[in-house]
This record gives sequence, C-alpha cells and structure tokens, in this order.
Amino acid sequence: MEKKLNIVLFGPPGAGKGTQSAMLIEKYKLIHLSTGDILRGEIAAGTTLGLEAKGLIDKGLLVPDTVVIGMIENKLDNNADAKGFIFDGFPRTVAQARALDKLLADRGTGITVMLALEVDDEELMTRLLSRGKMSGRSDDQDPTIIENRIKEYNNKTAPLKDYYREQNKLRVINGVGSIDDIFNTLCSAVERSSVAV
Ligand code: ADP
Repeated sequence: MEKKLNIVLFGPPGAGKGTQSAMLIEKYKLIHLSTGDILRGEIAAGTTLGLEAKGLIDKGLLVPDTVVIGMIENKLDNNADAKGFIFDGFPRTVAQARALDKLLADRGTGITVMLALEVDDEELMTRLLSRGKMSGRSDDQDPTIIENRIKEYNNKTAPLKDYYREQNKLRVINGVGSIDDIFNTLCSAVERSSVAV
C-alpha cells in the first residue's frame, strides 16, 4: 500500500494554521480536516450539534472529545482514498491524540509528523482581534474569550507536544515572520520527515 502523508498542524489559536494548511494541501495534494471549520459548518446549518457547540465556543471552551473524534472518524472514512490528511485544530487533548492514533492504526496508517507553530501571546491577541473584525467570528471579537482560548490551549492542548515528542514526531516552527518563509520551513520539515519514516 502507498504510504500516506498525515500531518498534524499544531499551534495556539491565531498561529496561522488555516493559512498554512491551505498552502500545504495544494502542494502535497492532501485533504484538510479542520474541526473548527466543521463545527462552524454545523453552527451555520443550525444542527443540534452546532447549537451545543456554539455555547461552548462562545465561552472559549473546548467541545467534548467524543463529538470531535466522531466527526474526524466520518471524514477519514469519506476520504479513504486520499493521499493523506492535514489535521488542523485536532487533536486538542491527549484523549483526542490517542483516539486519532487508534483510528489511523485501524486503517493501516499513522501520523507522519506534527508541525508546531509557535507565536507569542501578545501577537496572537493582535491577530485574532484583527481576524474578528474581518470575518465577524464571534469568538475572535472579545478579548476575554480569546484569553480563555489561549488558557485552554496552554492547559489542555500544549501538553500534546510531549505526546508527539515521545514518538519523535514533533517539529517546532517559528510562526512569526512572512507567510512564505514559514511555509518554506514547514515544507522542509515535511520532506525531512517523510523520508525519515
Ligand atoms: P483556532 O484556529 O482559532 O484555534 P478553531 O477554528 O480551530 O480556532 O476552533 C474554534 C473553536 O472550536 C475552539 O475554540 C473550540 O471551542 C472548538 N474546537 C475546534 N476544534 C476542537 C477540538 N479538536 N476539540 C475541542 N474543541 C474544538
């Protein structure tokens, strides 16, 4: 079986995961799986799941693990022939990371690399507030919600770096600089990792 390229694109809210994902999927012909985008789709469609998620998202809290794990499982099965995936905004907890490893192992594949974008908190706040003005995203418009999201990230999500470091899959990338320079650094890390596994 052809080896798949499965990338976890990791970093705090506002680190640039969406921007870089769009460029990476085009270059490597991957499927982009963003749990944030899927949840916003559910909210826009007015589903029960969307309604429940909105209550949590607008407080800056995470949605339950079972909900996002189920969404990812569906997407994996609907794209079984893909060359690989970029996971953006998922996993966000150790339970999600364990579930993802199991879902992929059951399908004969695994994570190739975790690319972790690092950006300082002050820069994140500036970027998110300016994104909020452009997009109208409610969770990007209120500094208290943003602070909560950064707190959730530091408490529940940042520990995932250790999870992937232990598997020798973590690559830390500076997320401050020009979009193209960051993209080139990400691509070199991908290419080094895909020959290494
Ligand atoms: P950002 O890129 O700014 O971090 P996302 O679009 O990825 O934002 O996610 C927006 C919100 O959706 C999160 O603050 C969280 O409430 C919820 N969410 C997205 N992905 C997950 C996940 N994997 N687990 C739990 N909650 C999630």
